[in-house]
Amino acid sequence: MKYFILFGPPGAGKGTQATAMVEKFNLCHISTGELLRNEIASGSELGKQAKALIESGSLVPDEVVEGMIENKFRTVRNVEGFLLDGFPRTIAQAESLDQMLAKTGESVTSVVSIMIPDSLIMERIRHRASIEGRADDASEEIVNNRIKTYHEKTEPLIEFYKKAGKYAEVDGTGNIEEVRTRIFDLMNKF
Ligand code: ADP
Repeated sequence: MKYFILFGPPGAGKGTQATAMVEKFNLCHISTGELLRNEIASGSELGKQAKALIESGSLVPDEVVEGMIENKFRTVRNVEGFLLDGFPRTIAQAESLDQMLAKTGESVTSVVSIMIPDSLIMERIRHRASIEGRADDASEEIVNNRIKTYHEKTEPLIEFYKKAGKYAEVDGTGNIEEVRTRIFDLMNKF
């Protein structure tokens, strides 16, 4: 199995690009953000706990998302691999992922990182807020907190995966098709 990690700051276009990537390479798309939003919509206990954290721009506890990921690995069949979108988001989650995969003698194939400057993040999210109405896109304060969380907790993963020789980056500026072409060119190498 291939295990691709789709990485990048909020608003980088991960969700948009993921759709094309899973189709072309026959992967199962796992978006922890989407799984959590489904939990909130269903009114589950987990959703209730996650709601306040998400809507303040913080992260939910590592164990919660790790459980979701492991559950998917166990149950999804008939794909050539997985595209992890929004996971891992902390060093602890990355270490946990390595341990999960090591159980079956597997490892992360590559990180595909979509990079955009902070100045573009706010612009992209403002645009998405007018279309999708996500609660965590609703105010500039929440988005600023998400950007801060990204820099503090998630950005250190770049060094983590560079050291492991698994980090690859594409320029996320430009239109959807341009970015998609850059990503496909990269993924064809794995
Ligand atoms: P974005 O693409 O804007 O970064 P996501 O849809 O991936 O947003 O995630 C939305 C929110 O869900 C995050 O801000 C965070 O609160 C929560 N979340 C998603 N994935 C994780 C994770 N791996 N660990 C902790 N919290 C997560």
